[in-house]
Amino acid sequence: MSARIMMLSAFPWQTEIQYIKGVGPKRAFLFAKLNIRTLEDLLYFIPFRYEDRAGIKKISHLEAGKIQTVEGEVMAVSLTETPRRRMKIVDVALSDASGLLHALWFNQQYLKDVFKKGDRVMLSGPVKANYYGGFSIEMENPVYERVEADAAHVHMDRIVPVYHETKGMTSKQMRSLMKSVLARYADQIPEMLPARLIEKYRLLPLSQAIKQVHFPEKETNVSLLNQGRGPAHRRLIFDELFLLQCGLALRKKGLSEKMPGIAFDVRKSGQAALKKLLPFRLTAAQERVFTEIRADMSKPLAMNRLIQGDVGCGKTLVALMSLLIAIENGYQTALMAPTEILAVQHYFAVKDYLEALGKSVCLLTSDMKKKAKEDVLHKAASGACDLLVGTHALIQKGLRFKNLGFAVVDEQHKFGVLQRVTLLKKGVQPDLLIMTATPIPRTLALTLYGDLNVSVIDEMPPGRAPIQTRLYYGKSRPEVYRFIAAEIKKRRQAYVVCPLVESSEKLDLKAAVEHFEMFKRDVFPHFNIALLHGKMKRDEKEAVMRQFKSGKIDLLVATTVVEVGIDIPNATVMAIEHAERFGLAQLHQLRGRVGRGRAQSYCLMIADDPISKDAKRRLSAMVQSTDGFKIAEEDLAIRGPGEFFGTRQSGMPVLQVANLIRDAKILEVARQEAFDWVAQHKTLADPESLPIRAFLERKWRGKLEWLSMA
Ligand code: ADP
Ligand code: MG
Repeated sequence: MSARIMMLSAFPWQTEIQYIKGVGPKRAFLFAKLNIRTLEDLLYFIPFRYEDRAGIKKISHLEAGKIQTVEGEVMAVSLTETPRRRMKIVDVALSDASGLLHALWFNQQYLKDVFKKGDRVMLSGPVKANYYGGFSIEMENPVYERVEADAAHVHMDRIVPVYHETKGMTSKQMRSLMKSVLARYADQIPEMLPARLIEKYRLLPLSQAIKQVHFPEKETNVSLLNQGRGPAHRRLIFDELFLLQCGLALRKKGLSEKMPGIAFDVRKSGQAALKKLLPFRLTAAQERVFTEIRADMSKPLAMNRLIQGDVGCGKTLVALMSLLIAIENGYQTALMAPTEILAVQHYFAVKDYLEALGKSVCLLTSDMKKKAKEDVLHKAASGACDLLVGTHALIQKGLRFKNLGFAVVDEQHKFGVLQRVTLLKKGVQPDLLIMTATPIPRTLALTLYGDLNVSVIDEMPPGRAPIQTRLYYGKSRPEVYRFIAAEIKKRRQAYVVCPLVESSEKLDLKAAVEHFEMFKRDVFPHFNIALLHGKMKRDEKEAVMRQFKSGKIDLLVATTVVEVGIDIPNATVMAIEHAERFGLAQLHQLRGRVGRGRAQSYCLMIADDPISKDAKRRLSAMVQSTDGFKIAEEDLAIRGPGEFFGTRQSGMPVLQVANLIRDAKILEVARQEAFDWVAQHKTLADPESLPIRAFLERKWRGKLEWLSMA
């Protein structure tokens, strides 16, 4: 080991916090609540806000209404009590050469003994001017610091960091401790990044970045700091994203090396036969993605590919063509969908084609009759079934395949990682194709799917007019109903989606039933109306969907069961009651149920007051754009990355400093550099990579597993 590396490894990142001077076991216990366990955790405990206490004002120059800082001598300390509210007030009179100020603290009696006449102190707080027969300049509950002769200020006369607090540990205590810890350790913090990258992106050295993120230089712009855009932040953000992407790059490499797979012969005759059966031609985007899939399939490695494409772009067909290759190579295939309705729909969508080509397709869902289920299980095990379409039932214990070689997971965000893995384990290194209509903003995709290959279908089948989206307020509901009636008279069909009620399925159902009854009785007595909800039996649901598809039903009143994937090209109206209660992704999904044929389609959102600011933003995003990616960007911006994926993806890695929306640009370059680095430095065992690897292991070990495949 070279001297440099010896030095690097010598920095005590992992020292337990209780052994740090000024901490001890008691405080270590408090720190644990803030997830601070090691010196490293402490150094990376980034302030969540900064206050500008720089610039000491003369008392005579103070401006009411601002937070300002003064320095002076304590003239008097008194304790008074308000007669009515029983409030105890400590009043410290402070003077500088220019004037007199009263600092007032409420219900903090102990402060009476903190200040002594003649002390020199600095105060910082909101300034008020009060009139009691003469003006009095006051500061309420200011922060204070005793001024020692020529000591550096910690809480005052500078930009000060504000930390998250926990009971027993104030931001101020944290700040004092941080100051002393930095004084002791900061200068020894070894550099992690190679000099080339530091120069290329003009980054601060790590040691300076850590110092300055806690105690910024005086001239730093506080508002930039508060947006996390200071130079110190930039360096730490780069590091965080670079490390994350290095981890993903290593995983991706490891996976492709470790996961030998089936090398399919992709030049079978079935493709041409299938294309002849289709009533349309593939779009250019479908062709391109299919070519990407075929390239993966022909390699002797397990494919791990995600197809992203807005609702209605025709992902199912691409999946079908890919499945067919695997089947022609003599393997069994599986197609898993998140809901029964969707599984059934997929089943019918692909069955005719495959059967026309002499292949067998089976359907498996959890509420099938025992006998029928056993029959399917038997066919899967014997190899008699070429494609098994189903719901979560596909990952049940009792199901075995003879030779599963290819699996498709539709609407993957509805499944957890484990469920996908369970499905894959039913085969021997099968290829995996994941499909999602949740358009993921690029920045998030890079993080979430950093180790997957992503294909994008960015084109709709021809002849589809963009859906018109309109927002109505409650009182114009009759107008919406008239519109629906007019469309139905043109032999079109419509959906009315009933409001989400809190998160209770029972109430959702009640709302839907009430709507249904009201429509039948009062609004559309002459149309055929049906109700569709999650609590219906499978054959009831199927019957309704069949009738809707065949045109026997004009209007489908539904709960959000229609959200995912239903395909009825003749439906042209999607009306959404209480649209303000739905999330943006959900609204977009619902809208995607129409606009699937050649006729002009409409999404009519009905909102009832009062609507929150966020809801307004969501609804106006819907009106303004039909582009799923734009919608997703907006959704991410409104909700923030943590919420974006909801509970299923709760394993999403927690980023400490980076923000995927704000730092999209840094993410792109950090990703590029990270993937290049891993390509050049293989396992990161060379001296230059060792510090990177050490950080990677400390920060991300075990935390990347939730991403894509385990
Ligand atoms: P999604 O990507 O949302 O899963 P689907 O696969 O359900 O979309 O396809 C939506 C509809 O578009 C289906 O009715 C399908 O038959 C049709 N479709 C798919 N590809 C084409 C194409 N190239 N030209 C015309 N229609 C197509
Ligand atoms: Mg689909």
